[in-house]
Amino acid sequence: MFRLINKSINNNNSNNIIKLNKNNIINRFCSTTTTTSINKDNVYDLIIIGGGLVGSSMACAIGNNKSTKHLKVALIESSKIQSVEETISNPIPDIRTISFNNQTIQLFKSIDVWDTIKSTKRINPFNQVRVWDTSGFEGIHFQDKDIDNNNNNNNNNTTMGYIIENNIVTSSILAKVKEFDNIELFQQLSVKCLNDYDQETIKSTSILPSVTLSNDQQLHGKLIIGADGGNSILKKQLQVPSMGRVYNQKAVVCTLKLGEQQQPNNTLFQRFLPTGPIALLPLANGYANIIWSTNLIHAQYLLELDDESFLEQVKDSFLKSPSTSNSSFFDIASNLLNLNPKGLSGNEIYMPPIESLVSKRASFPLRIDHTFNYTLPRVCFIGDASHLVHPMAGQGVNLGMADVKALSEIIQQSVQSGYDIGDPMMLKRFEEIRKPENLKMLLSIDTLFNLFTNNSILVTGIRNFGMSLLNNISPLKTLIIGVSKGEPILKFK
Ligand SMILES: Cc1cc2nc3c(=O)[nH]c(=O)nc-3n(C[C@H](O)[C@H](O)[C@H](O)COP(=O)(O)OP(=O)(O)OC[C@H]3O[C@@H](n4cnc5c(N)ncnc54)[C@H](O)[C@@H]3O)c2cc1C
Repeated sequence: MFRLINKSINNNNSNNIIKLNKNNIINRFCSTTTTTSINKDNVYDLIIIGGGLVGSSMACAIGNNKSTKHLKVALIESSKIQSVEETISNPIPDIRTISFNNQTIQLFKSIDVWDTIKSTKRINPFNQVRVWDTSGFEGIHFQDKDIDNNNNNNNNNTTMGYIIENNIVTSSILAKVKEFDNIELFQQLSVKCLNDYDQETIKSTSILPSVTLSNDQQLHGKLIIGADGGNSILKKQLQVPSMGRVYNQKAVVCTLKLGEQQQPNNTLFQRFLPTGPIALLPLANGYANIIWSTNLIHAQYLLELDDESFLEQVKDSFLKSPSTSNSSFFDIASNLLNLNPKGLSGNEIYMPPIESLVSKRASFPLRIDHTFNYTLPRVCFIGDASHLVHPMAGQGVNLGMADVKALSEIIQQSVQSGYDIGDPMMLKRFEEIRKPENLKMLLSIDTLFNLFTNNSILVTGIRNFGMSLLNNISPLKTLIIGVSKGEPILKFK
């Protein structure tokens, strides 16, 4: 199922399988012939590479905590940083949106950015999820109270999370980062390379690792955090082995304007088609985001269609009944066992009316990837840099935010107990906390993907059986609810 991938620095083809590097000595680094002298100005406690959602939240979590706010932090982001005002100047939502779960919202509150995000009035809570496929069954419809009931939890919270544009959240966090005196934001500068790094030397001496920026500036850090996303330069340079596979799918995304609705725009819809899932994420002010994951040829076809034809395809993919021969093993068994007593065709599901396409379409290649080592001496990976998942479960950032919470707590403990913040033992604790959780979620999402994109009779039968037991807690329903809520049910020791 998974393949071991250890990407070489010059190799961008993630399909390639390269042997696990057993060597501790890392040798593909910048030449440091132009080494600048180390002085207090270019030495940082923390160097965070990447000011995306995860890296910027990490900086904020350090700056906003009274035990760690004195730490000197460098946050390096290669792209241009927009102000919050710029991100909302266009009334049409950006095509990159994220469903943030309640744990992530809690983190936003704790780092003091939630009020800014809320003030944009571009946040949309969702409290219902509908998942169905093309089998003809009604699918799964759940609300937060279902989850609470399952957990025997009397929590009255009825919001499952919020759908918000990615750039609004990032700019709100970065606006907060700018308030901290001890955090230096290096904008529109990228980390070119990690300078000569040898694990043994770093472990056994006081030599600090350093990075070179695109303007040739060198920064030294007690701890270097790789929050530089799925194509992490830090991970490539350190040749950290990882396990994963490409899905041979792309996610085609766009923004729609919805028509008048009788009910609040607070349901997240996802239908599993034989080619992959299509999701409609409700946005504030009557908009919605489409994330359509499909094979590469189909994705290209969708990108090239004219707007009108594309919209037709979107509507059909949610509403049209598949033509079934009713002669497969499962159809016969289903009839005999009366698994579909209401005789549903699957298109009875209420969908909000789609008015128009209001954005360009873009696509993102999809793969799953999990890094073997979350930490090396004075180095740590968080977010997509250490784990990538399929977007169908909307968990990528949420996992990254859980990394932020865990790592900032570990750094806080190190400071409070007088440890060096790059102490390998403390960093190992971070890995021990996050690795099993991330792996469980990765495997749960991959299981769902395999279950829904596999069209063999046996798998279709198992899937439909799960879909048919709507009011029971079938393993499938529990899996979907768990994954949606960020609580995977797959367990291992
Ligand atoms: C279509 C789609 C839909 C998704 N929907 C959801 C969802 O609903 N919910 C969810 O939780 N997740 C979702 N995800 C996943 C989510 O987008 C990622 O998990 C998330 O963006 C990862 O954040 P990150 O900060 O770790 O990495 P990134 O967002 O990749 O950020 C990395 C940052 O590092 C910077 N950078 C990179 N290299 C360097 C360098 N050398 N020097 C300096 N800076 C550098 C980049 O400019 C970037 O800003 C979705 C993904 C896709 C593709």
